[in-house]
Amino acid sequence: MKPRPDSPATVLKRLAEARGRQDRLTHSEHLPARAARFAPWPAGLRPEVLAAVAAGGIDRPWTHQAEAANLANLGKHVVIATGTASGKSLAYLAPVLSALLEGTEAANGRGATCLYLSPTKALAADQLRRIGELRAAEDGALQRVRAAAYDGDTPFQQREWVRQYASLVLTNPDMLHRGILPAHARWASFLRALRFVVIDECHTYRGVFGSHVAQVLRRLRRLCARYGGEPVFLLASATSADPAVSAGRLTGLPVTAVTDDGSPRGETVFALWEPPLTELQGEQGAPVRRSATAEAADLLTDLVLDRIRTVAFVRSRRGAELVAVIAQERLTEAAGPETARRVAAYRGGYLPEERRALERALHSGRLLGLAATSALELGVDVAGLDAVLLTGYPGTRAGLWQQAGRAGRAGQGALAVLIARDDPLDTYLVHHPDSLFRQPVEATVLDPDNPHVLAPHLCAAASELPLTDSDLELFGPSTAPLLPQLERRGMLRRRPGGYFWTRRERAADLVDIRGSGGAPVRIVEADTGRLLGTVDAGSAHTAVHTGAIHLHQGSSYRVRELDLEESVALVEAADPPYSTVARDTTSITVLATDRAVAWGDARLCFGSVEVTNQVVSFLKRRLLTGEILGETKLDLPPRTLRTRAVWWCVTDDQLDDAGLLPEELPGAAHAAEHASIGLLPLFATCDRWDIGGVSTPLHPDTGLPTVFVYDGHPGGAGFAERGFQRAREWLGATLDAITACECERGCPSCIQSPKCGNGNEPLDKAGSIRLLRLLLGTGGPEEAASVPAVAKAAVAKAAGSAQSPEPSA
Ligand SMILES: [Zn+2]
Ligand SMILES: [Zn+2]
Repeated sequence: MKPRPDSPATVLKRLAEARGRQDRLTHSEHLPARAARFAPWPAGLRPEVLAAVAAGGIDRPWTHQAEAANLANLGKHVVIATGTASGKSLAYLAPVLSALLEGTEAANGRGATCLYLSPTKALAADQLRRIGELRAAEDGALQRVRAAAYDGDTPFQQREWVRQYASLVLTNPDMLHRGILPAHARWASFLRALRFVVIDECHTYRGVFGSHVAQVLRRLRRLCARYGGEPVFLLASATSADPAVSAGRLTGLPVTAVTDDGSPRGETVFALWEPPLTELQGEQGAPVRRSATAEAADLLTDLVLDRIRTVAFVRSRRGAELVAVIAQERLTEAAGPETARRVAAYRGGYLPEERRALERALHSGRLLGLAATSALELGVDVAGLDAVLLTGYPGTRAGLWQQAGRAGRAGQGALAVLIARDDPLDTYLVHHPDSLFRQPVEATVLDPDNPHVLAPHLCAAASELPLTDSDLELFGPSTAPLLPQLERRGMLRRRPGGYFWTRRERAADLVDIRGSGGAPVRIVEADTGRLLGTVDAGSAHTAVHTGAIHLHQGSSYRVRELDLEESVALVEAADPPYSTVARDTTSITVLATDRAVAWGDARLCFGSVEVTNQVVSFLKRRLLTGEILGETKLDLPPRTLRTRAVWWCVTDDQLDDAGLLPEELPGAAHAAEHASIGLLPLFATCDRWDIGGVSTPLHPDTGLPTVFVYDGHPGGAGFAERGFQRAREWLGATLDAITACECERGCPSCIQSPKCGNGNEPLDKAGSIRLLRLLLGTGGPEEAASVPAVAKAAVAKAAGSAQSPEPSA
């Protein structure tokens, strides 16, 4: 008889007590088990499909699966936003396969088709395998549904077959943008018959990437309409706030949300864990915490010794390897090499057979520990483990629940541990459990109307079919003013039949939908000439400057030279014990103030800005400890970025009242700016690297002490706007984070920034608390009756004022 497994609370107790580290456990949250709720399948699904599903062990669906399938059958656009492992795939596969099977019996023509989009090739491959299992499960009827992947790996000879005969095509937005839509004539019969478009993991389409995908989907809808197809969109999302709104923005269609999750959940204990301070000193002599990576390796070691099947999610591939290597060393010492071999790193890019072998080893228990990057890019099914370690906050509560949801086999308990990194957001979260456990997950933020995003898609659309007035509504309100601009720039030509693309190059090549504009910089191995990959122009100066250590697919390279003229970074393999971080200076100009609210005498604004940024040097930072090893100067030209920003100003009288001295102001504003950048990801689905900031005691455009936070992408991505909308909560959390930090004068957990362009100088922790209190304590916000013209006063005085520089993303 198997012994009853220990409860997750018992496992956590052992983990904390084993080495006397109870004080690192800042909170544990007990989430009770939840029973399953079932409903019958809706009418109208094919018996062959239900038989195949039943053969796979599922007799009746959970309530949310039945609800979504029913809506799909009724021809409604649906988004299913439920937890990890809640069977979202089945909810759309049942109606899709039924419709496709129906189609195979059509007397003439192609029957029905379906397009499945996933953000990664690995996920599409998984889905294809799952469909293959369903087809094999039944007596052969489902074999008539022809499913095929169509992506960069599809052999050329096979592509024609897919276009002509496949009824279910699995691909990704990149391939749709570059491969399928520009060649739509060859896809005419497929598009005409297109009944369903499935968009899996749709919460990943956020920010600039999400905005691009939204426009790719509008191009798809336009071409379908041209051929007479009118597909129903079925979307699957991680749990998110307002999924119907986000899915509506993504597709441009009214979408019904299914959110009431009927799947069961075992008892879960969620622990918050803060690594201890070390003797080491960082910038400005600040105390440095033990790294989350080192701490994760320790916890993984102890869990494996305890025979607990664990996956540790680590941000970078390099970090995942480090965690595995350290755990293996500790296990060799503690229990010998046999046990050490039961831990592995997952680096991505494995062949499907290797991934299946890894899954089997995990599920059988032969492998007890896995260190891996985020679940999405894995392409391995790691559901059903006993414990999950999250090395650093994944950036969103939605991501947190998605990773934590990998733990918990049917009906059994699960342990999840969030290990804080040394930064303001992680530190805030492990000391404010309510902001994780008593808050709804965030909405997926995207802004398809951003003209920088829209313009290349209008060109691509015009090259697919001339653009006419009837297309204006589809592409949104920015379209009408953009078209004449594109004509003036020689991108489009106006003729009686509409706007045409007449240039020689392919319009779809104008934009990399995963980049943020500008021609990408190629990364080339200097000695072999091998192309390793690209980085977008916007981040090239920061990521691949001469001397930078650049990680690419788990390997590290040193940049020998960044050649801006040729847009190429020449690199060589290198594995030094340090990482690099670029230093830069930034100034900002207000172009237009769109919205302003008064907070007492203080003012909060949102609008357009121009940011000028120059990378001037880089630091070497020792791996694991974060120690600074030295600084090297760089000679790179400045870059400008037109984007959107949120900013706040206080008056000199307010500063006097708060007793903030003029000499304290620069450090106070700079500290408040850093911490607020660190906390914005709590309110907008962004990364702290997606945004930048500038603070100054006297800004020429406002005539006042001002702190700006801006989107790091041309035209903006919706993050600063979100900050404006949620400003009181956002800046309140910022104040809480600084106040709660146990350090004396500021540290990476509160006001220091890993990407500060000015070496984290000057910073004034006490001053920043007073500054934020005076900003937040003045009542409001009330929408200003009218937005006064931006104050241009005191410009003469301001000419002498230095702006505190801050890097862009
Ligand atoms: Zn601190
Ligand atoms: Zn700074």
